[in-house]
Amino acid sequence: MKDKIKKINQLLVKHFGIPYRPKRLPNSIDTLIATILSQNTNDKNSYQAYLNLKKKFKSWEELADAPRNKIEQTIRVAGLGKQKSTSIKNFLTTLKKKNNKLNLSYIMKMNDKDILNELTSINGIGVKTASCVLLFSLDRNICPVDTHVHRTLNRIGLVKTKTPDKTFEKINGKLPEGIAHQFHTNLIKLGREICKPAKPLCSVCPLLIDCKFKGKNLDKVNNVRNESFLLLDSL
Ligand code: SF4
Repeated sequence: MKDKIKKINQLLVKHFGIPYRPKRLPNSIDTLIATILSQNTNDKNSYQAYLNLKKKFKSWEELADAPRNKIEQTIRVAGLGKQKSTSIKNFLTTLKKKNNKLNLSYIMKMNDKDILNELTSINGIGVKTASCVLLFSLDRNICPVDTHVHRTLNRIGLVKTKTPDKTFEKINGKLPEGIAHQFHTNLIKLGREICKPAKPLCSVCPLLIDCKFKGKNLDKVNNVRNESFLLLDSL
């Protein structure tokens, strides 16, 4: 599988380039909150909700002490306000209780598996959210799997899985060293711009020759919309 991942990554880099990454990585709490906000919405709406939180609350401590419904109102633009505000408040209060302060820096010394277990033990935090902290804040060689990554890797034929978490289990541990950020980010771009859920634009896909998907759409494509804004590289 490692060689196949390497080849897919090379083709994606050739097509999309090496994705932008900020020099200063966001801290883990920022990434975790932004990832919760990003569930079931696009990056623009979740970024707006994140900015609303930053504007309304002077610190994450103040956010942790805020009434849940006030958080819900502040993040309304990202949808699922009740669920997301509950997860955010629960995460912050759990962390505070555990360490007497809002700080996640203790996880930096832990290995990937222990970090995943630690974060997913908190209600409302799933594997995808925890793995985003590993990649985007801690620079570990871990590829988070959202619906785009799950769909594209199944269509290509790299995995045959029913859920994003199963795809995550299959591919992680098998990534060539140092490629996780470009592999993850370019798969998201592929899924948003070309390998769309309903009608993939296979005629312009850099993986056309290698892809095993039986329902390819080879219609001519004139325009591919650029979807390059990525929330977790913009915090
Ligand atoms: S060839 Fe088509 S189905 Fe396969 S990855 Fe590309 S866009 Fe998706």
